[in-house]
Formats: sequence, structure tokens, C-alpha cells
Amino acid sequence: MPGPTTAVIGAGISGLTSNKMLGDYGIDYTCFESSDRIGGNWAFGNPNGHSSAYRSLHIDTSKHRLSFKDFPMPHDYPDFPHHTQIKAYLESYAAAFDLQERIEFRNGVTSATRLPDVGWEILDQAGATRHFDLLVVANGHHWDPRMADFPGEFTGESIHSHHYIDPSDPLDFTKKRILVVGLGNSAADIAVELSSKSLQNELTLSTRSSAWIVPKYTGGLPADKYYVTTPYLPLAWQRKFLQKMQFMAGSNPELYGLPKPNHKFFEAHPTQSVELPLRLGSGDITPKGNVARLDGETVHFEDGTSSDFDIIVYATGYNITFPFFDPEFISAPDNAIPLFKRMFKPGIDDLVFMGFAQATPTLFPFVESQARLLAAYAAGRYRLPAVDEMERVIVADQQKYTGHVLDRPRHTQQVDYFLYEHDMRTKEIPAGLERARVLG
Ligand SMILES: Cc1cc2nc3c(=O)[nH]c(=O)nc-3n(C[C@H](O)[C@H](O)[C@H](O)COP(=O)(O)OP(=O)(O)OC[C@H]3O[C@@H](n4cnc5c(N)ncnc54)[C@H](O)[C@@H]3O)c2cc1C
Repeated sequence: MPGPTTAVIGAGISGLTSNKMLGDYGIDYTCFESSDRIGGNWAFGNPNGHSSAYRSLHIDTSKHRLSFKDFPMPHDYPDFPHHTQIKAYLESYAAAFDLQERIEFRNGVTSATRLPDVGWEILDQAGATRHFDLLVVANGHHWDPRMADFPGEFTGESIHSHHYIDPSDPLDFTKKRILVVGLGNSAADIAVELSSKSLQNELTLSTRSSAWIVPKYTGGLPADKYYVTTPYLPLAWQRKFLQKMQFMAGSNPELYGLPKPNHKFFEAHPTQSVELPLRLGSGDITPKGNVARLDGETVHFEDGTSSDFDIIVYATGYNITFPFFDPEFISAPDNAIPLFKRMFKPGIDDLVFMGFAQATPTLFPFVESQARLLAAYAAGRYRLPAVDEMERVIVADQQKYTGHVLDRPRHTQQVDYFLYEHDMRTKEIPAGLERARVLG
């Protein structure tokens, strides 16, 4: 049986791994890519605006954790490759598995409508109407900037980290009073870069929830080499252990003058930075709590202090957006999109989401794990459970991975990669195969 005709939206890591696995299972697929190149976020300067990479960006996950399981990263790569090396790695992945030829470049999906009986009608950028049995959504979730909604008005320049390139692009960031809002990885990188004394800036870093800051190296080795969870112990116990050991990582932001985090260690994605504590400790960055209001050039903070700024950089995350769907049909208000195994919306069995997770420590092998289930599903070697069972599992998984996490848009998709991959490999895919064998 040839399997369903399949459309894949996007050729970033989620689309590429989907394409590779679908090809392995002999599924007839077409990949739509709105850009003229693969890589999505990792294609620095992507002409379709879907890259949030800045010139100096190095990946936070070490190459040892980042590598796809079926395509190791080159040995000569450094521990934390630059974004150009990640892009080159994705190019060689696409070349090794002949993925380019089935990607329609500069031909994005502008609308996707589910037909009344079965299948999808797609309108592409070229203006053609196309029909497919199965739709795979891999359009990424780090491209639609989420701005903070502070009361008042700021009369200086404001940009989101999505648009930040380097200290002279898109604004001149020298001899300026700069406020960076946020304490995720991009906020840390940008604050460190712009607080270099050579730029003669005054840099303030403001955070609402604060965050634990973990080093990229521990004992001379990439720190994430030590991070692994096991399926044989409850995740809650493992978190407790990490919380006891956190003092060894020097992770408490209060040590460097930042506010106390409103969550415990490893209850939310930590920020990875070797340099941020040093910059705070050297007095190059002024730590602040949340912004209370804006008033002209002045920013008032919740601690009652205020300062004047020339530029605010909002490193405040991204919205999950599907511009090609009718929002009445599918949307993700406050970034919440409950999905079975972060892939399936119960009741819509010809639609699969890829990469819609915040996987610790990395998304790369995570999407590869999802792609294995996708391809087995398309090939009829995996059958979904009943809708009520999927809904039960969504709640249970949410509780397991995020029950302890704050109810904030940044954390709606938190997943532990090791537990997820083990569950997929040893339980979910075999169980789906058995359901397919018994029920067809
Ligand atoms: C600054 C930054 C640093 C990060 N660092 C790490 C890290 O250290 N480790 C880690 O594991 N993860 C990291 N991530 C997260 C993750 O690796 C990336 O977001 C990753 O790029 C997600 O891949 P994706 O394929 O899901 O989405 P994307 O890379 O966004 O790719 C989506 C693709 O879909 C295409 N597309 C979008 N809309 C359409 C449409 N309508 N029609 C056709 N094509 C479309 C886009 O052009 C793009 O090619 C980082 C993210 C950011 C922003």
C-alpha cells in the first residue's frame, strides 16, 4: 500500500526529520517551505524572517546531546557549535538523505482546510490548490515575537530579541542606556554581548520570574553531559536530587543580585550561561526585578526605583502561531495546545504536529523521536488510542512534565527528552503497533 499522500509544512529540524523518516517508510510526501533554504531558525538571516539567530549565537546544548541519533555531528565540531555550523550540519543531513529534492522552496502554505469527509485542501504560495490525505505541521514556534505588556509608553527605541543581530544591527548599541527584559538564553546572551565595556553601554537586566542559571561547563566537561533522567525512578525524586545538588552549579540567581526565582531548580527550563554571572559579578550588568510601568524615557521597577533608557530589548519569548489555519479550528491561546504525545489533537487523526515542545535538554533528537512515530503512523504501523484515552494521557503527561511548573506561556510545552524518548520507543510505538495489528 503506498500510504497517505502527505504534506509537511516547514523544512527546519522538525520538517527535515519528518521528511527523512517518511522517506524511510516509503511514504509519498511533499514538503512546503516558504523560504529559499532549509534550517528555519538555524538559517541566520533567513529571508522569510523565521530565524531568531543573532550573529554570535552558539547553541546552548552541547554537540553530544544535540546530535541526531542517525546522523552524528562531525567530530571536529566544538562542544557548543556556532549557528553556521548547525546550519552546515543540517545541510549535510539533507544531502545525506536526499531530502532537498522533495522540498518545494519559496512555496509556503498560505491556508490549510480540513475537508468535510477526509483529507486536506492546501493553498500554496504559488496560488495552487493541492490535496493531501495527511498534514504534518512543522512551522516552528520561535519566530512570532511575544512582547511584554507593561502599562505606559516608552519613547526610546524598543526591539524584540527576534530582530537583534549584533551591536550595530538593527540599531547602534554603543554608548547607550539599555534595558534587556527577560532571563532566558537569548536575554542572557544579548545582555552579555551588549554589556562589554568596549561598547561603553550601561546595561540593566530586568526579570519577572527570574531563572536558575546553569553553566555550560562543569569540571571541564559540557554540563549537559551530566544531565540525564531515568525512566526507572519518579521524575519528582530526580528533580529533588537535582535541587539538593544545585549549589554545586552556582545556579542561584540571587547570588548575583537577581531576584529569587518563583520556582525551584529544574521546575522550569534553566538559563545556560557561563558569562552572565561573571558580568553581573563584575558590575557590568545591573540586575533588576519586574518593570512596573513605562513613562517616556523612564522605566519604573516594582522595587520602587526608576532609571532612564535609550533602548529596551524585549527577550520575552514567542507565540505559537499557525497563520494557515482558521483560528476557530486550531490556535494556541497563551501558547497552550494540548496534544497527545505533543503530536496529535484528539479527534483529528489526519493532522500531526512536530516540534511543539520545550524539550530538556534539547529539541534535536526529540523531533527525531517524534518523526519515528509519525512515519510508523503514516505507514499503518501505529494506531492511535481512542479519543478519551488520548485525553487522559494528555492530562497525565502534562502533570508529569509540567504539573510543577508555573502557568506561564513559556512553560506550556515542557517535556523531558530522555523520558519522552524512552516512553515512545519502549511503550507508545509498540502499543500502537499492537493496536494496529489487532484493530487494523
Ligand atoms: C535563539 C535560539 C536558540 C536556541 N537554542 C537551542 C539550543 O541550544 N538547543 C536546542 O535544542 N534548541 C534550541 N533552540 C530551539 C530550537 O532548536 C529551534 O527553535 C528549532 O529551530 C526548531 O525547529 P523547527 O523545525 O520546529 O522550527 P524552525 O526552525 O522555525 O523551522 C520551521 C520551518 O518552517 C518554515 N515555515 C514556516 N511557516 C511556513 C509555511 N506557512 N509554509 C511553509 N513553510 C513554513 C520556516 O521557513 C522554517 O524553515 C533555540 C531557539 C532559539 C530561537
